[in-house]
Amino acid sequence: MNELPEVATLRLVWQQQYVTTSTGPPRLKTTQELSPAAVRVHSPYDPEARYSSKHPSEQPPGRPTEWVGSKVHLTESCDPDLPNLVTDVHTMPATEPDVTATTAIQDKLIARGLTPGEHLMDGGYPSAATITASAQRGITLLAPIVVQTGRNAGKGTFTPADFTINWAAGVATCPAGATSRSMKPDKRDLVTFAFSRRDCRPCPIRDRCTLAAEHIARRITVHPEPIHQARMAAHTAQHSDQWRKTYHARAGIEGTVSEAVRGPNLRHARYRGLAKTHLQNVVSAMAINISRLGTYFDTKPATQRRPTRIHQLCTTYTPAAA
Ligand code: SF4
Repeated sequence: MNELPEVATLRLVWQQQYVTTSTGPPRLKTTQELSPAAVRVHSPYDPEARYSSKHPSEQPPGRPTEWVGSKVHLTESCDPDLPNLVTDVHTMPATEPDVTATTAIQDKLIARGLTPGEHLMDGGYPSAATITASAQRGITLLAPIVVQTGRNAGKGTFTPADFTINWAAGVATCPAGATSRSMKPDKRDLVTFAFSRRDCRPCPIRDRCTLAAEHIARRITVHPEPIHQARMAAHTAQHSDQWRKTYHARAGIEGTVSEAVRGPNLRHARYRGLAKTHLQNVVSAMAINISRLGTYFDTKPATQRRPTRIHQLCTTYTPAAA
């Protein structure tokens, strides 16, 4: 009996939700005492379902910002003059960040002989590691790269991209022309270049560089050389017109997600468990592909839609017709 999966789930739910007390019956855990969302069972009917949420600013108005279940990533082709077909469906726990899917998706595409030359993704998918892994696989990862991180992110101060690094000499040069006094690796496998107080304190552009107290000099922390170079190259490229033109094609996947939501109802799992939900997602993608191929190979001319009343009025009463 103890080994039954249902009993094991019930025991886990009790352990995650209640805490024993020495003075009385068990009590519900406070929010701070609860296990992380990634391991917390949200429903005894589907122990793999997880609670997740998006910041409201990440979602268009009217879309849900929290859900219980899983997360699916769709990948599609975007060759001009060919139908856009879904080439991969990646289902994973709702709490997993998007960046953890990048390399797994690419490996599946490679295994199917569908390696993309350029892989267009949104800002949640690139990281130093995934950019490097993509390059090793011969794939150019095109996604917005954010270079500013840390407590001053988004406050308009110089980012590591504004500093020039001479890796051979182990020296970084700041926008004011000062050189760093030390270069040290840290426990996170990152490298910190520290500047001198003697340079930073009287610096005329200090307010554009750091918001720290006056006695603290600027530091920049970056990835080791090959990863930093790859990130900087990607960051520089994203400001070119060519990059923007290429990246426009990514918008198509938003339409595909919308089609999968409105048609096969992608946001509602019909089954319990990640494996079955994945199967549902794959079948939904197949339905989209079949529909698109049908449209692509359909030789019958599309039937003309009857013009709407407003269209008739516009074409009848244009200045030329008047
Ligand atoms: S504050 Fe220091 S690191 Fe920043 S620009 Fe001035 S001298 Fe360079």
